[in-house]
Amino acid sequence: MTNTPVALTLNAGSSSLKFGLFSIGATPVAMAVGLVDSIGRTPTLKASFGAGMPPLGRDLTPAEASDHKSALATALALLRQHFPDAQVAVVGHRVVHGGPSYDGPMRLTPQVMAELRRLSPFAPIHQPHNLAGIDAAVAAFPDAIQVACFDTAFHRSHPWVNDTFALPRDYYDKGVRRYGFHGLSYDYISGELNRIAPLIHAGRVIVAHLGNGASMCAMLGGRSVASTMGFTALDGLPMGTRTGQIDPGVIFYLVQQEGMTIDEVRDLFYTRSGLLGLSGLSNDMRALEAAGSTQANEAIDYFVFRIRRELGGLAAALGGLDALVFCGGIGENSRLIRERVCEGMGWIGLDLDRARNAAGDTVISTDMSRARVMVIPTNEELVIARAAKRVVDADSACAAGRPNVRNT
Ligand code: ADP
Repeated sequence: MTNTPVALTLNAGSSSLKFGLFSIGATPVAMAVGLVDSIGRTPTLKASFGAGMPPLGRDLTPAEASDHKSALATALALLRQHFPDAQVAVVGHRVVHGGPSYDGPMRLTPQVMAELRRLSPFAPIHQPHNLAGIDAAVAAFPDAIQVACFDTAFHRSHPWVNDTFALPRDYYDKGVRRYGFHGLSYDYISGELNRIAPLIHAGRVIVAHLGNGASMCAMLGGRSVASTMGFTALDGLPMGTRTGQIDPGVIFYLVQQEGMTIDEVRDLFYTRSGLLGLSGLSNDMRALEAAGSTQANEAIDYFVFRIRRELGGLAAALGGLDALVFCGGIGENSRLIRERVCEGMGWIGLDLDRARNAAGDTVISTDMSRARVMVIPTNEELVIARAAKRVVDADSACAAGRPNVRNT
């Protein structure tokens, strides 16, 4: 179907592999996006191939996705079937942790890989899977350029007060910092705002990325100055199964009085808390909205309350607010959550237009609203594909003897 080089994007989670195939002509365009889910358990495959093409979905045999390597092989077999002539020139990887120094995408060299492995203890639940995805991609495409795009990179512009904890200084020097995550999503939203509302982009913006993982980011002039997530992707807002902000004293109590091991506490905080823990029902916002039970409603109340609390705190960090942007599965689709977050927020300048909110318009505030409220669907895969293309372009410029501005 195509002889032009393409970019493959990979986002390897603990039991999932998101993939995308992008043409890398003038600007990257998605040819296919998909997901292998429940790797190692009862795996499934979903993929879509652009407007007008029916989406595909099927159960996989356990052997087709017993681990990330076989999941990648299954995804690649599907892509080859649809695009037999596609030449993967570059593979872009979502990598959760880039540490204190990586503030943009990096071409993967043995040195960079060694540094990313060194950072694994900072994100033990995610980083090893990301690195396994890279290893699988290098084996599948030994001649392709490999690029890492970091969830932490967008937040490296934080001022020191939003980068540190009040611990003795040497912990900061050892890397115990507020890194912030969801950076690829915020990067995309920042770019979109610059494109569709440049004056807003230049001002004070809070972005609420509300999905299964959830966080908020305060941006000044399109750059991150604060995030609700900190050292790990556990802090800040409550999430599908994660606690969000919690007094660390609870950990001491659970270990010393309840006799839990650290692994048990970690499992509790990451996989059995948040919306699931509070509702006793589900981590899925759609299920909670439909349930209508007291516990489901209270889980939603807590979610909304924490978003509103962070909204006030982040607006204080920005010295005011010009726009609130919703994104992520909940932010993009739940009119109820958007309405409840904005309710009675006139004091901070938010005046929601209910009809626009119900219609899912891009701008959902009234024309009189002092700060704009917007819904912008995020696209982390496209951010990865764009970064991958920049590296390919820089590589070609280098090969042609032109000065290489930056090897990213
Ligand atoms: P992830 O963080 O895994 O990428 P998503 O961004 O896909 O997650 O968001 C998943 C969340 O979005 C789930 O809680 C799901 O219930 C919620 N969601 C998706 N569509 C709707 C909807 N129409 N109404 C309410 N919540 C929704």
